[in-house]
Amino acid sequence: MLGPVGSGKGSYSKVLAKEYGFKHLSTGDLLREEISSGSALGQDIKNKVDAGEFVPDDLMIEMIGNRMEGDCILDGFPRNLKQAELLKDIDKVVFLDVPDEVVIERLTQRRMCKKCGRIYGLNDMPSGSTCECGGELYQRDDDKEEVVRERLETYHRLTEPLIDFYSEKGLLIKINANDNFDIVLERIKEALSL
Ligand code: AMP
Repeated sequence: MLGPVGSGKGSYSKVLAKEYGFKHLSTGDLLREEISSGSALGQDIKNKVDAGEFVPDDLMIEMIGNRMEGDCILDGFPRNLKQAELLKDIDKVVFLDVPDEVVIERLTQRRMCKKCGRIYGLNDMPSGSTCECGGELYQRDDDKEEVVRERLETYHRLTEPLIDFYSEKGLLIKINANDNFDIVLERIKEALSL
């Protein structure tokens, strides 16, 4: 899944993985797990993530490489050309296209569950600050507006070149992701012949 922060990579990946039995690998989730473990490595990662920067490629490649098995949906990886060049075995790249203004609005309004990781937007936010599973909802530090702008800048500079990279290989599927969740999900399924 390729796309700017807030394009829905995580949400669509989760649904597709559950429905079709793919293994969902989210580098963002793996990094957040390491951060919550309280390790020294986690603290280094947090400093980078909270600044809207990428964590080092070597670390990312090790984390994801150890976990890739069977049919996977990669969510948040690769995020730059170096990572893409190392990832050989890839069937399709779904590019979720959403304009920057929409990303900024979506991300600064979204909340995540501390317990199950579920993400809520303005349209499906439960009343009170509690997830359906009972977990507390919070705003990720990297979803604050100034960090979102940094993350977008990083995306345009380092990740966007992957659009041409995969397009030239004939692997890219561009999806207009500036619509409601179910419509976009159907577009993805149709484009992947699922
Ligand atoms: P995400 O949840 O996918 O938005 O990822 C949150 C943050 O984790 C990103 O803003 C980056 O700082 C970091 N991150 C996630 N995936 C990668 C990756 N493949 N390479 C480098 N940094 C990453």
